[in-house]
Amino acid sequence: MAHTLPPLPYDYSALEPHIDARTMELHHTKHHQTYVDKLNAALEKHAELANRELEDLLRNIESVPQDIRTAVRNHGGGHANHSMFWKIMRPGGGQPAAKISDAINQAFGGLTDFQEKFNTAGANHFGSGWVWLVQRDQKLEIITTANQDSPLMQGLYPILGNDVWEHAYYLKYQNRRPEYLKAWWNVLNWEEIARRYEQSTKFASKAA
Ligand code: MN
Repeated sequence: MAHTLPPLPYDYSALEPHIDARTMELHHTKHHQTYVDKLNAALEKHAELANRELEDLLRNIESVPQDIRTAVRNHGGGHANHSMFWKIMRPGGGQPAAKISDAINQAFGGLTDFQEKFNTAGANHFGSGWVWLVQRDQKLEIITTANQDSPLMQGLYPILGNDVWEHAYYLKYQNRRPEYLKAWWNVLNWEEIARRYEQSTKFASKAA
């Protein structure tokens, strides 16, 4: 079945002033839509992949036929990453619940320390890519990936991730990526992130 663009769970203007409406609209209707379309175009060449979940294709990217592997990596990664991205944000933001908060404190010494380390990793990532929170060996860790690569390609489940492609912030922040990274914490959906944290624990035990 063809992949489709998931609807945004809030209005384009809902994350103002931290993320402007025009950026959200272009990001969702143009960038994300293009990843979906190009992923579908690639998968059409291999009917045997039609019933495989996107997560499965990304986790096992080496099993994808060579002639479409790069397209699935880039556009399948782009589709998965952005589908997560819209859901882990919400207007008004919030605070992490107890369980993930404890894990963050244990790994990074506190929420503020975690945010600073995450922002530094995102600011220092050269070129386009993503900065992620993942769980490795039952410990939280910050990683970055290039382009649209997903942590799933390294056997890691993305708990949360921020898009550091210029298209995510350039209209409002121009070259000031650190300012965007800092503002982004105001619009996080910690309930969804807590759910993904639970999921990452299951994912790790499934992979083991
Ligand atoms: Mn993007």
